[in-house]
Amino acid sequence: MEIDVSELKAKSFECLDGCAMCCLCQPELSMDELAGFRKNGLTAGLTKNHIQGYRTDEPTAIKLQGGNGACHFLRDRRCTIHELRPAFCRQFPVHVHALHRIQLNANLSCRGITRGGDSLAQFGNSLVSDIDPGMMASILVETRDAVKSFEAEAAKAGVHRTPERLREAADGIIPVLCRPGGIGRVLAFADSDMPKGSMELSEILSQIEKAEPPEDLWEAAAKGNYEQLELENPAWRPVYVDAEFRWRSYHSTDGKIKVEGLGQDGTLTPELEIPLDEIPLLEPDEGAWLAFNDYADVLNSRDHFLGYSYWMCENHDYAHDLMAVYLGLLGTAMLDLWWRTGLVGRIQGRKRLDRDLALEGIRAFDMDCLDMPTKGVFF
Ligand code: SF4
Ligand code: SF4
Repeated sequence: MEIDVSELKAKSFECLDGCAMCCLCQPELSMDELAGFRKNGLTAGLTKNHIQGYRTDEPTAIKLQGGNGACHFLRDRRCTIHELRPAFCRQFPVHVHALHRIQLNANLSCRGITRGGDSLAQFGNSLVSDIDPGMMASILVETRDAVKSFEAEAAKAGVHRTPERLREAADGIIPVLCRPGGIGRVLAFADSDMPKGSMELSEILSQIEKAEPPEDLWEAAAKGNYEQLELENPAWRPVYVDAEFRWRSYHSTDGKIKVEGLGQDGTLTPELEIPLDEIPLLEPDEGAWLAFNDYADVLNSRDHFLGYSYWMCENHDYAHDLMAVYLGLLGTAMLDLWWRTGLVGRIQGRKRLDRDLALEGIRAFDMDCLDMPTKGVFF
């Protein structure tokens, strides 16, 4: 069974006392974990209702305090059932993903991930060795079948491109994407009518160089993010955790981005209302572009992101070449990241987009990016 841990290499991890950002997600339990919770009298903390709207036959999700706060079992930012915490919590900040192979991803929203020191890859490998190989194999059978049926439909429509070709093209354009003017040009190229599937990389690069970026890239970024953040249910809103471990929930309403302090029990305390036009696309400096470049490389290596492009292609009835879909999604993800970094900068009163702010932007963005729909599954 192929298991790719390359994303975890050259990263280290240490869980930071007082952070508890991952305890704002709603963990789901396996049947074995549910049995353990039952045996230990912990079922009062469980629910059949998942915050994303579906209901299970058994109470397999942990309740969130107040419906949108931290996990039921969190007290003073400490887990009260540490020995019994479910696999989701044990694995964090690593996610195990299945598509055509098993791949381990690092959740870059976790502030405990750094470079050097103890190996995140080693941590990931130890997690995988604890997973039942039979269970992994049966999940892989399902996701591989989903990939095969996607490929057959895409080939029938004449829009299929292999993962190798998509990633090779993206590899070639990322240095262009992550420099001044690059995001707009790549988006203009991806949106254009020209057939892209059979283009050589040199031609793609030359067409991107000639492409006219949209006149108002800021407007496209602000509108797209405003729509994504129109989230009525507070449990669905993103939370940004800063270096002092303050939890801030944000969403869009009345032409503004509303930022609220989030308490463990789900209470929301208004902090800021930022008019949309006060969230700029700040000009990245060299260090910020390099951080964005590294992040684009990570997206291009993730099977989850590849599966997202499959999902999008299928959702648009195979009307667009997979190459255009893939490069367009990569450009859009980088535009969204750029805008979210501006939002974090505005929250922190920072006007310079340097490497440090770019990394904050990635922390604010990656959790949402890993939440995008995909053809594969995290387990
Ligand atoms: S997000 Fe990372 S650092 Fe924070 S509590 Fe979770 S694992 Fe620890
Ligand atoms: S079970 Fe523990 S570690 Fe897991 S989300 Fe709840 S409080 Fe956090």
